[in-house]
Amino acid sequence: MSESALYIVATPIGNLQDFTPRAINTLKNVQVIAAEDTRHSARLMAHFDIRTPLISVHEHNERQRVDRILQYLQQGESVALISDAGTPVISDPGFVLVRAVREAGFRVVPVPGCVAFVTALCAAGLPSDRFSFEGFAPHKASSRRQFYTERAELPHTLVFYESPHRVLASIEDMVGVFGGERRAAVARELTKTFETIHSDSLQNIHEWMAADANQQRGEFVLMVEGAPAVDNSALDDEALRVLDILLAELSVKQASALTAQITGVKKKQLYQAALERKSD
Ligand code: SAM
Repeated sequence: MSESALYIVATPIGNLQDFTPRAINTLKNVQVIAAEDTRHSARLMAHFDIRTPLISVHEHNERQRVDRILQYLQQGESVALISDAGTPVISDPGFVLVRAVREAGFRVVPVPGCVAFVTALCAAGLPSDRFSFEGFAPHKASSRRQFYTERAELPHTLVFYESPHRVLASIEDMVGVFGGERRAAVARELTKTFETIHSDSLQNIHEWMAADANQQRGEFVLMVEGAPAVDNSALDDEALRVLDILLAELSVKQASALTAQITGVKKKQLYQAALERKSD
């Protein structure tokens, strides 16, 4: 490698044939590979005959490791960052390192490949012209419900990662917050033997998964269609006048709740109108 750089290298999320030739070559040619879990990655490296030394960079030592990696770069050597699966930095360590390396003036070169949420979304049959990747919801049930509630009115597809320990409870919370009718999709064990991509209403997905313990095993991406558009054309002038007065003093949530009480118009409809007026 001519110029020292940090390479951000994607690895497979299951199927080893998804490891790109460029990723394998990069890992063979750098001086050191920073890996989230060196024992886990050692098996992948052995399979592809990659003999480059591995050092660990995980959530708990990332800040300390930055200095060591900067030293390699200052000596003119190149380093690759990999995670256990998929693209580093995406719901994985690396952000602190990438920022520090860029700030120190070195090149950061992406070597793209698998990302679980893109792999899931492209086959789910949900709108993908706009979507947001929301990562993992909180583990605690009350915080998780709050997390979903904050996203319930967003109009675009929402994409989450979830662990097998919480997937059923998480979908149950989605039914409660988004409503059982909302369309959704579950992508399980992508690119692996038991790959399953199932789309239906949230209520039906919950029943389907609860009835089959096998569907609760493995790795998951959960996707939920955005909130249905609200027709604001029906809002009368009086409701909008009250909403505007309250919006000048209060948050969108408070103003729409109070306007609903005063005028009898649906809170959801006012909330949507308030969001639009704030963004104008
Ligand atoms: N950096 C990874 C990426 O590029 O997608 C994500 C790492 S995150 C710690 C791990 C989570 O990604 C899993 O808990 C699961 O939600 C999702 N995931 C990873 N591999 C998957 C697969 N083969 N099928 C479904 N979901 C997967």
